Amino acid sequence: MENMMNALVKENACAGLVLKKVPIPNVGINDVLIKVHKTSICGTDVHIYNWDQWAQKNVKVGITVGHEYVGEVAAFGEGVTGFEIGERVSGEGHIVCGHCRNCRAGNGQWCENTIGVGVQRDGAFAEYICIPASNVIKIDPRYDEEIVSFFDAFGNATHTSLLFDVVGEDVLITGAGPIGIMSAAICRQNGARNIVVTDLNDFRLDLAKKMGATKTINIKKEKIEDCHKELRMREGFDVGLEMSGSASALESMVKNMRNGGKIALLGIQSKPSEMNFNNIIFKGLTLVGVYGRRMYETWYKMQTMVDIGLDLTPLITHRYSYKDFDKGFEAMNSGLSGKVVLDWRK
Ligand SMILES: [Zn+2]
Repeated sequence: MENMMNALVKENACAGLVLKKVPIPNVGINDVLIKVHKTSICGTDVHIYNWDQWAQKNVKVGITVGHEYVGEVAAFGEGVTGFEIGERVSGEGHIVCGHCRNCRAGNGQWCENTIGVGVQRDGAFAEYICIPASNVIKIDPRYDEEIVSFFDAFGNATHTSLLFDVVGEDVLITGAGPIGIMSAAICRQNGARNIVVTDLNDFRLDLAKKMGATKTINIKKEKIEDCHKELRMREGFDVGLEMSGSASALESMVKNMRNGGKIALLGIQSKPSEMNFNNIIFKGLTLVGVYGRRMYETWYKMQTMVDIGLDLTPLITHRYSYKDFDKGFEAMNSGLSGKVVLDWRK
C-alpha cells in the first residue's frame, strides 16, 4: 500500500464526498508532485459536495476534488528545473494550454482550453497532488500555511480589487462571501475611502467589517441609496465589485454608481439578469468580467500585500483534520463561516 494515499473523491453522482485510498499520482516529465499540508474549502467545492445543477453539468464523477492548498515539493519529473525537494509551494488552479493567442500573450486567465484542478482533473484534497511545474508557485516559508492554503481564492479577490484604481475612491462590494470580504481588506490597504459591503448574512457582514469594510449593509433591512449622504458621497460609487452572483445586486449596483464608474463582475449569476442596459449606457459605465487571476502577476501582488501587513487570519473560522471533512462542508453550508481549513497531516 506504499503507493496509495487518502483522497476526497466525488465517488457517486449524489451529494457528499468519499474519503478513500487512491494511487499516488504518477509524476510526468514536466510535473511536480506536491505533498499537501493544508487545504481550504472553496464555494466551488461546496457546489460539488452538494451536487447541484452546476456540478452535475461540469464535474466528472470519480475525480479527487479541491484546488486551494499549500504543501511541499515531494518529487519532480526529469524535465523540471528550479525546484528543490521540501520547498514550500502552492499552485495555480487553472491548467492552460500555453499555445493559444491569450496564453502566448501572457493572458492565461483567458485561455480557451483551460482545465480546472479539482473540477476537470484530480485536485488537492488528498495527501498528494501532481501538477505541471509551470503551475507551481513558490511560497516564502515565512507566511502562515493556513493563509497560503486559500491563496487561490485570495488571488480572485486580488485580481478583481486591483483591476481599477481605488485610491481615494468609494467602493461598493456586493456579496460578503470570503472573496468579497478579502476584497474589502485589499481595497482598505490600497487606499479606498469608503468600502461598503452588502449581503443578506449578518455573520459574514461582521467578518467584512472586521477585515476592513467601512460600512456594511444588510439589504434585508437597509437600502444602499441611504448610505450616500452619511458617507459624504455626492455622485455615487466610483468602483463596484460584484461578488454575489445575484442579478438584483448587480442592478442595484448599477443604480448606485456615479456616471463614469467602473464595475468588475466576479460573482457567477445563477439566474440571468434582466438588466436595463440603458442605465449602463447613459451612465457611461465600464463593466469588466473577471475570471481567475493573472498568471502569474497576481500571485506576486498577493504575497507582497501580505508582506506589507494585509492580515487574512480573521477570515479563518474553522479548522479540521481532513478526516472531519463533513464538518467542514457543514460549516460552509451553514453560512456561519469564513474560510474552512483542512489539515492533511493530522
Ligand atoms: Zn491557452
